[in-house]
Amino acid sequence: MRTIEITTPLDRPLSQEAVSSRVARMTGRRDLRAVVVKRSIDARKDPVYRYRVDVYGPDESPEETPPPPLRDVHGAEPVIVVGAGPAGLFAAVRLLTLGLRPVVLERGKDVHARKFDMAKLSREGLVDPDSNYCFGEGGAGAFSDGKLYTRSTKRGDNMEVLRRLVEFGASADILTDAHPHIGSDKLPLVVENIRKCVTDHGGEYRFGARVVSVSKLPGGSFKVATATGEMFEARAVILATGHSARDIYEMLSESGGLLQAKGFALGVRAEHPQSLINAAQFHGKWRPGMPAAEYSFVVQSAGRGVFSFCMCPGGVLVPSSTEPETVVLNGMSNSSRSSRWANSGVIVQIDPGDIPGDSPFRLLDFQQKVERDMYRAVREVAPESNPMAAPAQRLTDFCERRLSATLPQTSYHPGAVSTRLDLILPQLVSDRLRDAFSQVRIRGYYTSEALLLGVESRTSSPIRIPRDPETLSYVSESGIFPCGEGAGYSGGIVSSAIDGMRAAEAARKLILG
Ligand SMILES: Cc1cc2nc3c(=O)[nH]c(=O)nc-3n(C[C@H](O)[C@H](O)[C@H](O)COP(=O)(O)OP(=O)(O)OC[C@H]3O[C@@H](n4cnc5c(N)ncnc54)[C@H](O)[C@@H]3O)c2cc1C
Repeated sequence: MRTIEITTPLDRPLSQEAVSSRVARMTGRRDLRAVVVKRSIDARKDPVYRYRVDVYGPDESPEETPPPPLRDVHGAEPVIVVGAGPAGLFAAVRLLTLGLRPVVLERGKDVHARKFDMAKLSREGLVDPDSNYCFGEGGAGAFSDGKLYTRSTKRGDNMEVLRRLVEFGASADILTDAHPHIGSDKLPLVVENIRKCVTDHGGEYRFGARVVSVSKLPGGSFKVATATGEMFEARAVILATGHSARDIYEMLSESGGLLQAKGFALGVRAEHPQSLINAAQFHGKWRPGMPAAEYSFVVQSAGRGVFSFCMCPGGVLVPSSTEPETVVLNGMSNSSRSSRWANSGVIVQIDPGDIPGDSPFRLLDFQQKVERDMYRAVREVAPESNPMAAPAQRLTDFCERRLSATLPQTSYHPGAVSTRLDLILPQLVSDRLRDAFSQVRIRGYYTSEALLLGVESRTSSPIRIPRDPETLSYVSESGIFPCGEGAGYSGGIVSSAIDGMRAAEAARKLILG
């Protein structure tokens, strides 16, 4: 096997067949097998795709490690999985491979029914606390950009998640793209296929099943109760409820469980015209047919990291509150990333030491207060607006500390209301954002055409549910396996999925030894 590199203009991506023909032309041989292993964008000069291609001789074949086979688990020992986000779903699939029967309890609706509640949230600003951009089948990952980048360095684990996603309907491009993403239009099908797979193999799903208590029975099993009064029993409970399930933290605390305050990040969503980002990142050479350009940055301000987060090229802003009378924003995009807008979180790291006190809830309380302040600020100046309307300020006005006389257009459907966002945000955030914007080196980024909206606050969990590093059990109750973003052990779709798989392995160890 040898590896070669092929480049092609950014508006002319190559299919696998086209790559094979190129390799045949380059080598003068038709009996070689060309396998694309990576596709990345190189925009240093003329923007091109770079394909890294492994070329195999007639007697060679690529080494492939398929994900472990799924088993029929009808009648097998149950494991309760609370939450059907990436962590819960990948825990459920992993349980199938281990011969255990997942019983998935999800407070929200199925991924299709959920869309109606999200539309209502955008149109009328009415938050259903069980069905919104964070809650429902697929979790916070279902209506997102579906970016699949991760800082997790275990390539085997990452590839297992990506291969499974392809099995469940994602494009095979995610296996080779340097910056893979699925898109909000494609994710629901993947999520639905995961459910079909789990139930076809003998697992179970319950929607509208908000878990309100988990208690240990004398024999060592757990009794799990939902708000509707249903009871479930199992020897292991995987808790994959995400970082927005504030009631789960309260449930654990009320039963005497240990929780820890955890640092997280908070800031704004910045929205630019995508054409401006394309021009900056592709040096004025963007043309139709090329992908929407991305950006990212990290700068330091007063000893703290300030960074772009979850950038959505060709995306839109969405209301991701989970409680009434709060305003929270996030971003998503479709697979084509073809909207006129580029948005990104720009966020400041908040450490536990920034917030006085010793309650494990103090960062969560701080997060919730800022979200409420956003809501109140809009009500004061525009009481008739959509309850999800966001306080907004032009980037230049934010930095120059003045109200924006007018606002540019935005993709944010509930609407933007001109307010002194810089004054509504806590000063430790505003000051650092102002300083950070002056340091961003993307040409044209600092412009009055850019709009800042608040608040981007659901970046990661402000609380950790501590677990034993060996058994992965909750330190306060062996047999409960907190995992994913809500437990404070992952960030993003892929790392949460990996953590869910680890929790499933840990549950198996507890049950089968
Ligand atoms: C709009 C948006 C865009 C995003 N874009 C990206 C992206 O492009 N790439 C990326 O990597 N990450 C993205 N993220 C973050 C990503 O979605 C999360 O990191 C990931 O979903 C975390 O997975 P999780 O399974 O740990 O938790 P979640 O996805 O939060 O899932 C938790 C699940 O538990 C359920 N639940 C909560 N409480 C209960 C209860 N009491 N009983 C029963 N069920 C309960 C919830 O309804 C939910 O379905 C985005 C997030 C949002 C909101």
